[in-house]
Amino acid sequence: AIIALVRPTRRSPKDTGTSDDTIALSAHSSDVVPGVLALIGNTPLVRVNSLSDALGVEILGKAEFLNPGGSVKDRVALQIITEAERRGEIRPGSRVFEGTSGSTGISIAMVAKAKGYDATIVMPDDTAVEKMRSVEAFGATVERVRPASIVDRRQYVNRAKHLAREYGPLGYFADQFENHANFHAHITGTAPEIWKQTKGEIDAFISGAGTGGTIAGVGRYLKDRLPDVRVVLADCQGSGLYNKVKHGVMYSDRESEGTRRRHQVDTVVEGIGLNRLTANVELGLPAIDDAFRVSDAEAVAMARHVASHDGLLLGSSSAVNLVACCKLVNKTQWRGTKRTIVTILCDSGSRHFSKFWNDDYLQKIDIPVNSGLVESLLRP
Ligand code: PMP
Repeated sequence: AIIALVRPTRRSPKDTGTSDDTIALSAHSSDVVPGVLALIGNTPLVRVNSLSDALGVEILGKAEFLNPGGSVKDRVALQIITEAERRGEIRPGSRVFEGTSGSTGISIAMVAKAKGYDATIVMPDDTAVEKMRSVEAFGATVERVRPASIVDRRQYVNRAKHLAREYGPLGYFADQFENHANFHAHITGTAPEIWKQTKGEIDAFISGAGTGGTIAGVGRYLKDRLPDVRVVLADCQGSGLYNKVKHGVMYSDRESEGTRRRHQVDTVVEGIGLNRLTANVELGLPAIDDAFRVSDAEAVAMARHVASHDGLLLGSSSAVNLVACCKLVNKTQWRGTKRTIVTILCDSGSRHFSKFWNDDYLQKIDIPVNSGLVESLLRP
């Protein structure tokens, strides 16, 4: 069964979406589906039992790790490529270029190949090796570059943009940070799914921001329907976005270290953290009510906790989101009230074995694995 997800009616003038940016996502069922792209989206909400029971609040995670490319970014890749096809900017013979530290590269490679296009993915060379291997497995070209600041032309996003331009008319730069198709994927897909799954009974939505697409699309959709819903940013250490939400000014904790390092986010968490404003995060800022800072040690502890208590093997950004759920409960005194908090379980821990899930590696960079930090978050 193919479900066409309906666009929300109220849009701000800032949103540049066209009227045809809804794409059909299939329902996961026992149906035969017409190829891998039909497996994207319509993910379930999974109750995180250990946290929900301890806090007396329903903590529901959108199981994005179930997407065929393994992350929430499948939705974005499908939306970006489909919208570009509709505008004629991607056509037979096209090559899609993207600069990404991980999940988006896998999703772009998967969607491009499923639709018959080539892909070139530029990645920083400190990205977890599992992610590079997945992109290569799809037959996409991978270029590895030294990690660099966004102000450096050799930085991975800048390099992908340059390569696309150099390729000529058949080169298309996906541009997940600035492309509003990213936001559309969430406001027409992720958000209405959450709305339907919770029957509109939702007290808070919590998400990290890497491009900002998720928190913008879901946050805006929910706020439009439910002005009292709390939209909360879960920010990793080293990211300046937290300061933007809390103090109105975007500044990095490394402000004193010079331009080059200031733009880098220093964390073991992959996929989130921003030290500059992107088009997608700007769409979301008006909807964000609050923010919590989550340390690497807290994220590491949370991932271990839900793996061993719930059987959920999650990636680092999902763990950051779950820590922020606990912090919100503690700040609001929602404990025991059975309110509902929805968050995003962006990808699986199996993508993070070389770094976030590697205890030896964490020890080397002085991040404790058995810190007891989750127990203190759960204690009344
Ligand atoms: N988690 C992971 C694993 C990601 O790759 C990303 C995207 N970079 C995010 C979370 C954040 O999502 P968004 O880009 O929509 O802010």
